[in-house]
Amino acid sequence: MSAAAELLRATILHTPRNPFNTEHALEAFADGAVVLSEGRIRAAGDYTAVASAHPGAEVRDWRGSVILPGFIDTHIHFPQTRIIGGLGWPLLDWLRLHALPEELRMADTDYARAVAAEFVHELARHGTTTALVFGAHFGPATECLFEAADAAGLRIASGLVLSDRNLPDPLCQTPAEADRLSRSLIARYHGRGLLRYAVTPRFALSATEPMLEVCQALLRDHPDVLFTTHLNENCQEIAEVAAAFPWAANYLAVYDRFGLCGARSVFAHNVHTTDAELSCLSDNGAAVAHCPSSNAMLASGIFPLRRHLAARVRFALGTDVGAGTGFGMLKEALQCHMMQRVAKDAITVTPAQLLYLATAAGADALGLSAETGDFSPGKSADLVRIEALPGTPLAAAFERAETHDALLAALIAQAGTETIREVRVAGKVV
Ligand SMILES: [Zn+2]
Repeated sequence: MSAAAELLRATILHTPRNPFNTEHALEAFADGAVVLSEGRIRAAGDYTAVASAHPGAEVRDWRGSVILPGFIDTHIHFPQTRIIGGLGWPLLDWLRLHALPEELRMADTDYARAVAAEFVHELARHGTTTALVFGAHFGPATECLFEAADAAGLRIASGLVLSDRNLPDPLCQTPAEADRLSRSLIARYHGRGLLRYAVTPRFALSATEPMLEVCQALLRDHPDVLFTTHLNENCQEIAEVAAAFPWAANYLAVYDRFGLCGARSVFAHNVHTTDAELSCLSDNGAAVAHCPSSNAMLASGIFPLRRHLAARVRFALGTDVGAGTGFGMLKEALQCHMMQRVAKDAITVTPAQLLYLATAAGADALGLSAETGDFSPGKSADLVRIEALPGTPLAAAFERAETHDALLAALIAQAGTETIREVRVAGKVV
């Protein structure tokens, strides 16, 4: 063990196994420790055992705190940072009247730079260490996001948002421009530090077939970039996609025709989905970003979680800021729990499952399972230290929780940014 090793002593909670498939998947150590060195997890377990195996490690006594894996947000829009909280619209009106006017402001690169700085600050402040982010429709604004994320040390995948119809003119590119700008951004940012590129058409409704062909070519020529877009969010949107692509059997078929439904694909929402689409997602190993706050805010509907499980479709949580209500991934987990409780085919999503959806499931969706999401030795030391403020109901819950599940449930229900004491990516404080 190198002399630089650090041992963090606290209560440790993580989900190295999938709690939807395995009982007792929550791994918890009341008096636990995580050892890290050179940005990597070296061990996680009971303090006494871990400390005796790593006698040279520098000990940080964080007793009274809980350490969780860094949160992973699989769907969030950086240009919408300043418009959280538009109440009362369905999706297409919200886009036209609330979101797109703000996205147009990203043409001003100074404005975009300021928003990008706020955006990465908010991610870190909420304990989010990894995110798949919708960039802007403008190259320079998208560069601002990459630069800000790189400077902050966050693990971000993002890309220029592509559109060539049905949006205000300044938000559209020609397919040739989209191709040229995307390739230039991929060359500059994909693989730089912790950054990765994601090919990002806004949604099928704002893309022509030549634009989808550009996406296909970008993925073909760059075998490790991601793909992300929206799918089956709102019934009116689905009807308009069907009218725009009359040859498509369903919404997903539009993307699938261009080879865009694969193991590198993350589709946001999929609220109103068919069994054929679920099979296609599952067969191709594609993932879904489930954004319960946004689904409620825009009255899009309740995510068919049971059907995704039954079809073995991978899914993880996303905040969908700015249609979502904020950057907090524990709050998003709580919203998931609450909406599934009131769903017609109600399911009680357990605290361990919720933690998994906010951490390891996100890593899996983004192809980062070997790198982050839990505290298995060798993974990147991406973590959040949470400590309840003294005298609060959460502090009382910390003291009296009889089980790790109860402690985790209290955290999911109550822990806000005021409880987040430290956030690290690859061992470094962000
Ligand atoms: Zn979205």
